[in-house]
Amino acid sequence: MDLLDTLTAKGLRRELPTREEALAVLATTDDELLDVVAAAGRVRRQWFGRRVKLNYLVNLKSGLCPEDCSYCSQRLGSKAEILKYTWLKPAEAAEAAAAGLAGGAKRVCLVASGRGPTDRDIDRVADTITAIKDANEAVEVCACLGLLSDNQAERLKAAGADAYNHNLNTSEATYGGITSTHTYADRVDTVNKAHGAGLSACSGLIAGMGESDEDLVDVVFALRELDSDSVPVNFLIPFEGTPLAKEWNLTPQRCLRILAMVRFVCPDVEVRIAGGREVHLRSMQPLGLHIANSIFLGDYLTSEGQAGQADLDMIADAGFEVEGAGQVTLPRHRSDAAAGGCGTSGGGCGTSGGGGCGPCGSHESADGSHESACGSDESACGSEESATAAPDEVRSELVKVRRRGAGTELAPNA
Ligand code: SF4
Repeated sequence: MDLLDTLTAKGLRRELPTREEALAVLATTDDELLDVVAAAGRVRRQWFGRRVKLNYLVNLKSGLCPEDCSYCSQRLGSKAEILKYTWLKPAEAAEAAAAGLAGGAKRVCLVASGRGPTDRDIDRVADTITAIKDANEAVEVCACLGLLSDNQAERLKAAGADAYNHNLNTSEATYGGITSTHTYADRVDTVNKAHGAGLSACSGLIAGMGESDEDLVDVVFALRELDSDSVPVNFLIPFEGTPLAKEWNLTPQRCLRILAMVRFVCPDVEVRIAGGREVHLRSMQPLGLHIANSIFLGDYLTSEGQAGQADLDMIADAGFEVEGAGQVTLPRHRSDAAAGGCGTSGGGCGTSGGGGCGPCGSHESADGSHESACGSDESACGSEESATAAPDEVRSELVKVRRRGAGTELAPNA
């Protein structure tokens, strides 16, 4: 179809699609779905070959957050029966990280609940980074600690952090509907702080919170403008005990269209399938690998993923290969720009010339659950797409609260 030929050609040139083209991807039918995946797959292979980057989450501090992000099982007032614990000691975190690295991960994501770190928290995380890197010099470490104050990004960079994650999550227009304790602008500011400190930017979204197609396109265009090196795409995990527990709006087909739209808008950045992969893509996960070039290995922050070995088997069965520690994730034009200081000069994803190359998202992303960005407006809840598959029924049995790994006596899943 003309649309997919156009989007493929633009992706291969790192050229920004129009909003109408991005929206049209989300409106494709199930009959067109494999063509959409194939087109996005061509763009993926151009920039990332058949490599899959594995990332490993270590939840340094779980639950008891004073913020009210509606999608989050760790939020203020959450009734979700998740693990709750305070800061892991550096050695404990390093032990958890080592399990992920032994399983094939090349990046460790250190995540802590909370509005943002204190200076003492930065010290703790610095000690943790040291403990991890002492054992494995080649590992990439991404910190995800919430909103950053002045100079905290610089301190993390000096401590050895490679990246910072802080997600935009949803469009600016709907942000106030999911969180009242901080703003979309706060999130953009933190991404820019991290980027300005020379940390690699990781910032993504959560789909399935009741947002419209326009909201999804808005947030992905905003992420491109931020010039993140990696874009985690979370699919809401509707935890019982959170305001979004009944928001089961996604189908595997819808998830694939969303991933494809992200790939077309940000063709040369690391697109990561994040929280909700098993819950929403289910048996269609291998098709997701044709679009995204990165996933989390094993478990998420407060929920369990499939067995780490199942992740590895899936990658091999689908004909992909795990990216090695010695391989550079990003295409040359981006990695060279990053090595020269991330600034605003280059690299961006394509020709957008995006202003900040901001670091990344926040902890919540990995367990992504989001609230009714559009509240009770059911028309916006995915049912308006022209695709033929109906939204999911409530599938609470698919959400498994994490009971192993960090914060427990049981071995991590990796
Ligand atoms: S997403 Fe982060 S800041 Fe928001 S409630 Fe969850 S832990 Fe707190």
